[in-house]
Amino acid sequence: MKKITIAIDGFSSSGKSTMAKDLAKEIGYIYIDSGAMYRAVTLYCLQNKLIEGNKINEEELKKRIADIQINFKLDPSTMRPVTYLNGENVENEIRRMEVSSKVSFVSAIPFVRQAMVAQQQAMGKEKGIVMDGRDIGTVVFPDAELKIFVTASPETRAQRRYEELKAKGEEVDYEEILKNVKERDYIDQNRDVAPLRQADDAILLDNGTMSLEEQKQWLLEKVMSFEL
Ligand code: C5P
Repeated sequence: MKKITIAIDGFSSSGKSTMAKDLAKEIGYIYIDSGAMYRAVTLYCLQNKLIEGNKINEEELKKRIADIQINFKLDPSTMRPVTYLNGENVENEIRRMEVSSKVSFVSAIPFVRQAMVAQQQAMGKEKGIVMDGRDIGTVVFPDAELKIFVTASPETRAQRRYEELKAKGEEVDYEEILKNVKERDYIDQNRDVAPLRQADDAILLDNGTMSLEEQKQWLLEKVMSFEL
């Protein structure tokens, strides 16, 4: 059976992970959340006091980067992937605001990106993968057969994040989330290495007014044109 590589990039909280996850499940592909990898490195920095304010101890992080092991395992009860950092389940912790507020600084460091991209490319060697992130179609898999770039207004995305975190029982403030969404958009788009941008051959999806079901159908249609 023919297998392809599917790259889904876009702004934070644009719903790309949900789309990518659902699609992978539907067509039996591996799903990798590359943002979870940058979040796990950020959590590692926080746990090991390598971040103070917005200042990162890059020298120490560089020495340790090869020892930071990130894997994904399927949770059999939900069939959703769970992120592990050095053998520990960190799926909930990496979604917290403390990590969200630092992750764009960590992910802008060139040696961090180099290490993550190498792991991501190894994961996609056999194709049959859906990966979502910021630079998947531009840097990680520039030859991906299908590239999607997802966007929606910052307010819509902040509202989604707010509801997601509230449902998990986290104390959250909409204005703080909106500020974080806009700040990450800015840093992700303006960093020197692998800035967030739409690949020339990516299909744009503005899902601001679409339901999850509509997005799913839209994406499936694109995939089906490859006759997998
Ligand atoms: O996708 P998510 O919002 O969880 O990603 C968290 C952060 O990780 C992003 O704001 C971005 O700074 C970084 N990231 C990245 N490249 C990727 C995926 C995520 O720089 N491929």
